[in-house]
Amino acid sequence: MSVKAWSISHEDRTKLIQGAFEAKKGSYSPYSKFPVGAALLATDGTLIKGANIENASYGARSANSSNVPSALSPCGLCRQVIREFCSLNMPVLLVPADYPQVLKEGEEQKPGFGEGGVRETTLGELLPDSFGPEHLELPRQ
Ligand SMILES: [Zn+2]
Repeated sequence: MSVKAWSISHEDRTKLIQGAFEAKKGSYSPYSKFPVGAALLATDGTLIKGANIENASYGARSANSSNVPSALSPCGLCRQVIREFCSLNMPVLLVPADYPQVLKEGEEQKPGFGEGGVRETTLGELLPDSFGPEHLELPRQ
């Protein structure tokens, strides 16, 4: 399934990336030692930030900018949680910890990656053929 992402302005992109880095500071991840921050820009302009919170049972939820110097994607559990609340064509920016990455002389950005080494995708691409709340409304036999 290929889903076309909504377009996103440079200003909003920057706001989202900065928000994800700020959110990561609020992570509580003493067990995995894998802090993650995420930011979501709502249609009314509200910037919503979140970070992973763990407990002793290792249950962790959330997504986006981690401390790994590559653009990691959210785990399957987090993708399904995002699917519950967001449209499949919502753009998703996966930000490397060393953002902004600078290309070396003559080096080209990898396909699917944008400015600063940010991977640009959609929820639909991350979670193809997904099951969502609307499926619970289907007629049953
Ligand atoms: Zn996850």
